[in-house]
Amino acid sequence: MKIAFFSTKPYDKIWFEPMGKEYGFDIHFFEAPFQRETVTLARGFDAVCIFVNDYADAGMIEQLYEMQVKAILLRSAGFNHVDIQAAEGKVCVLRVPSYSPEAVAEFAMGMILTVNRYTHKAYNRTRDFNMSLNGLMGVDLYQKTAGIIGTGKIGQAMIRICKGFGMHVLAYDPYPNRSLDVEYVPLEQLMASADLISLHCPLTAETKHIVNRSTIAHMKQGVYLVNTSRGALIDTDALIDGLVAGKFGGVGLDVYEEEEGIFYEDKSGEIMRDENLARLMTFPNVLITSHMGFFTKEAMQAIAKVTLDNAYALENGLPLVNSVK
Ligand code: NAD
Repeated sequence: MKIAFFSTKPYDKIWFEPMGKEYGFDIHFFEAPFQRETVTLARGFDAVCIFVNDYADAGMIEQLYEMQVKAILLRSAGFNHVDIQAAEGKVCVLRVPSYSPEAVAEFAMGMILTVNRYTHKAYNRTRDFNMSLNGLMGVDLYQKTAGIIGTGKIGQAMIRICKGFGMHVLAYDPYPNRSLDVEYVPLEQLMASADLISLHCPLTAETKHIVNRSTIAHMKQGVYLVNTSRGALIDTDALIDGLVAGKFGGVGLDVYEEEEGIFYEDKSGEIMRDENLARLMTFPNVLITSHMGFFTKEAMQAIAKVTLDNAYALENGLPLVNSVK
């Protein structure tokens, strides 16, 4: 099988290059993202392998179909960046449903601890031998209320972590998992009662801007918010207004509504034209990271293995257990 691998970074090759050889695949690594302008690079390949800030819209899928590309191999769990309906019956879409939920949940808790206890600021201060504690006071998480939105694999890992911190945990999910030891409440109640809100639902038409002007207004004063899921779950304008109004104790964003083309790239030598992102960077209680919750050795290895297993199943007519329909 010939695979065109898009948005390649050096850390992708560490796993995909040797494993691809073991499977006998011919993988061509393109640094370019997969987008309208680059879709024709897929000509002559059996599959394209894409990441979270690549996309495949209906027109691109039609082009893939005409070029006889059989599959889109997603190196991610989320699939909001592919027009699944357009792909039906034309190009098979295969994803990695789970690689290391703990990687993302541990990172989410790490973000909360950082913005709450200002370890990012303390790190810089102590390097200058500025040992002052002024402005670095946080709050205990113990016995506070965590609100987990989405109780799938990552949400469940986050619930375990919050319980380990001695927190009271509330959850919201339209498909509650009754086997979990957690109290499900309506979304409005969660928003109003949680000291910490962590987003772990996928991006869909229903969840877009699930955090918006109205839900922010109902949150507790001093609430902590962390988003390691998808940027568009939060209405960024409303978030900025909430931050300006002093609503939030702290905000951790591993994802951002307009991250495509910015996250995963070194933009340090350029003028940042995204004004919302630039504004978010100015708040002392906001931590932004570049969509890296997944980024552990274990997760990367698992992503490579499942992605190539998916390709192997396709090539050999085996059941496509990870196809997205
Ligand atoms: P999952 O499919 O196991 O769980 C998602 C849960 O969200 C399900 O229980 C589902 O019922 C629930 N849900 C659906 N609609 C909802 C709604 N309207 N409100 C609340 N909950 C809703 O997915 P997962 O593996 O736990 O991943 C969750 C999300 O995390 C993914 O969709 C992806 O966007 C994101 N993610 C981010 C990173 C990262 O590096 N930051 C890595 C992996 C996944």
